[in-house]
Order: sequence, then C-alpha cells, then structure tokens
Amino acid sequence: QVNYIWESIEIMILMWGILFWENPEDSQQELKQALKKKEFVLFYQPKIDVKTKQIVGMEALIRWHHPKKGLLSPIEFIPLAEKTGLIVPIGNWALKEACWQNIKWQQEGHPPLRVAVNISPKQLAPDLVQTIKDILEETGLSSECLEIEVTEGMLIELKDSTKTIIEEIRKLGVTVSLDDFGTGYSNIQYLQSFHVDSLKIDRSFIQNIETSPINQRLAEIITQMAHSLNLSVVAEGVETKEQYDFLQSIHCDEIQGYYVGKPASVKEFSTLFFSQTRP
Ligand code: C2E
Ligand code: MG
Ligand code: MG
Ligand code: MG
Repeated sequence: QVNYIWESIEIMILMWGILFWENPEDSQQELKQALKKKEFVLFYQPKIDVKTKQIVGMEALIRWHHPKKGLLSPIEFIPLAEKTGLIVPIGNWALKEACWQNIKWQQEGHPPLRVAVNISPKQLAPDLVQTIKDILEETGLSSECLEIEVTEGMLIELKDSTKTIIEEIRKLGVTVSLDDFGTGYSNIQYLQSFHVDSLKIDRSFIQNIETSPINQRLAEIITQMAHSLNLSVVAEGVETKEQYDFLQSIHCDEIQGYYVGKPASVKEFSTLFFSQTRP
C-alpha cells in the first residue's frame, strides 16, 4: 500500500517535470520568434525637470508579451538576448519603435520631447551610428528628440573605438547619458575622456536617501562633480516627496521614478502625461 503511494508520487513529480521543464534552446527560439510575432512592447516613464516640474522626456522600457507567461520584465529576457546576440535586432527594434512613437506624439500635437532608449554593450558597435542615422531619417524625428542610455560598465575599458562611436552619435545631435551611475567603478577619468551629456544616479543611492547621510553626501558629490564637467544630472527611482525635495536642494536637474510616474503603456502615458497639453 505504502509502496503504491510512493510510486504515484514519483509519477506525479515526473509528469510535473515534463510539463514545466524548460529547454534553454526553446527559450532561445521563443525569443527569436518574439520579434517576428511582434510580442515586444515599449512602456514609457516620464522624466521631469526638477525646477519647473515640467515633463522633459521619457525613457522607453521594453516588455515582452509572452504568449504563455504574460508580460515579462526586461530582467527576465535581456540577459538571454545579450548572451545570444539577439539583443542587436531587439535593440534596433526598440530604437526604431521609440522614434516612431515619439514622432507620432508630436504629430498628434504634443510638444516635442526627448525619448531615451537603453543600449546594450553588444549594440555599441560602429554599425550603431548608421542605424541611428537611418532611423532618424526614416521616421523624420529630430535628433535632439532622441537620447541613448549606456551603462558605466560599457565604458570601463576606455576603448578608443567606443569613444569614437559615442562621439559620432553625439555629433548627430543625439544625447548620450550614462545610466546606473555609481554602481560600477564610477571612474572620473572616463567621464573626462568619454564625453556624455548626462549622468543618471542609480536608484540604489536614492532609495534610502532620507535616512542615509552617506547617500545624501554621495548624491551631492556626484551632482557637483557632474556639473563641474558640464553634465546634467538625472536621479532615477525617486519614489517620495522627501527624496524629491532633497534632490531639488542639491540642484539635481531631472528626476525619474514612481513619485512622478511608473512606466506606462502608450495609451496610459498619453492620458496621464499629455492630458493638459492636448490641442
Ligand atoms: P534602467 O535603464 O536603469 O531602467 C530603470 C528601471 O527602474 C526600470 O526597470 C524602471 O521600471 C525601474 N524604476 C523606475 N522608477 C522606479 C522607482 O521609482 N522605483 C523602483 N523600484 N523602480 C523604478 P525595468 O523597466 O524593469 O528595466 C530594467 C532594465 O532593463 C533597465 O534598467 C535597462 O537596463 C534594461 N532595459 C529596459 N529596456 C531595454 C531595452 O530596450 N534595451 C536594453 N538593452 N535594455 C533595456
Ligand atoms: Mg535606462
Ligand atoms: Mg538606470
Ligand atoms: Mg538599471
């Protein structure tokens, strides 16, 4: 009798395993198909000017409408996309889609804003300059309305080729910002040698800024250093009024975070942030 129960349990576990076991190659295939099947979407999160409280732009953040698993966050599929190289076509799609959406908003009569798109290390190759040029031409979006976000880690090697790519992108009139600042080596030397337009102070410094004198001091030092290098400063992950007030007191330029708005679908973003400016 006991044996029989154990056997049943074993069979159930086996069936569970067969049903839910994921083959890594399947995930890769799914990711590859996702682009063709138009399963990716971009959400948009507003960035506001600290002084005027006006919306100055938005960051495009990718999501995957997975047929079985629902809406997936980028942390659930970007690592695989980077590992397999699929990030290049996916990233190019995101660039193009963000530019199309931005021009569409402008054509609907909304004031021109800058859309920021995240770029992965693998995308930061010489092709990227031409890709951006082509997308701007095809969509008719003005280059000042596009920003790309690169992370510190991508610049760490101080490669001349990376430096040239960034310079060429900036020559087009596209803004370049350094994302997640403070989580890597935060080396001042590369800030001097890689000319970017702005720094985004990582969320981890902002999270507990009300109660952490060290983080307050760090945010202030980063802001002063950035300003002395003529860079503007954006704080990410601002969730409370206290955080906002503190950032205003240290002259941070722009903020982004749940305090102003969570990443939203195109429709939601339009109703939430364009309602007052509708023609
Ligand atoms: P990121 O570029 O640093 O984006 C900021 C992340 O913080 C977003 O997560 C955003 O939803 C979240 N966030 C914003 N404000 C707050 C806040 O007040 N509180 C909290 N707790 N979180 C906040 P998300 O959308 O999950 O994106 C995660 C990362 O995935 C991004 O980090 C970016 O590195 C990457 N990513 C997103 N879209 C793309 C893309 O199109 N291409 C590439 N290569 N990477 C992307
Ligand atoms: Mg970003
Ligand atoms: Mg960031
Ligand atoms: Mg991040």
